[in-house]
Amino acid sequence: MLRVDSLNAFYGDLQAVRNVNLEVKSGEIVALLGANAAGKSTTVKSISGIIEKMKGEIYFQEEKISNIPAFERVEMGLVQVPEGRKLFPFLSVRENLEMGAYTKKARLHVKENLEKVFTLFPKLKEREKQLAGTMSGGEQQMCAIARGLMTMPKLIMLDEPTLGLAPLLVKQIFVTIQDLRQMGMTVLLVEQNVRQSLQIADRVYMLSNGKILTSGQSEKLLNSDEIRQGYLGI
Ligand code: ATP
Repeated sequence: MLRVDSLNAFYGDLQAVRNVNLEVKSGEIVALLGANAAGKSTTVKSISGIIEKMKGEIYFQEEKISNIPAFERVEMGLVQVPEGRKLFPFLSVRENLEMGAYTKKARLHVKENLEKVFTLFPKLKEREKQLAGTMSGGEQQMCAIARGLMTMPKLIMLDEPTLGLAPLLVKQIFVTIQDLRQMGMTVLLVEQNVRQSLQIADRVYMLSNGKILTSGQSEKLLNSDEIRQGYLGI
């Protein structure tokens, strides 16, 4: 569904991503893992089309998208839920969700998609009139994922959805990601939480200093000494 070939991304003279190759197949959960500043967000932003200076090619559903603007990529079904949620704090939960439904297709299906996301996140239904900025971190993350879903994506990219959440909420978000897959969604997950990501992802890419360190099936990496010692403390 998604293929990234030899991606290099820059902020001025600083090169944040070096020769990254990755792919996501339809129906997969793929995790992009790594420590702070590894280049995870930059990779996802490049795929979304919001990094100005990049080299390499990106294909979505066999179509080359590297040169098309970000909003058109969203129209094609590629959506990013940004790190830090980036909700509209002074709009209600419902208004935030409606703001997500801005693609041509989604505008025609607002009511049924609201019902879908309220089924997935019943708490958002209870809080639909509450200002988004007054909700807890976990509720805001749910709202951000739901807003992404309102665009009717084929592939949803979640940038550190568990950042700053308590362990119980982290667990809930990982369950939600599995629910998304059950609904037929393809997921590219950016995380620092290596252990839990390896448990739910089909495949992972480990990024370090802007480069892919290693990649493969989650099971294989869970059993690799390098990952066990370097990331899982075993
Ligand atoms: P984190 O988990 O901390 O978000 P990350 O793996 O997502 O880390 P990036 O945000 O992609 O990492 O950052 C990669 C590198 O690019 C870092 O060295 C960072 O300082 C730099 N960088 C990121 N955004 C910018 C920017 N807007 N301007 C300049 N440098 C940036």
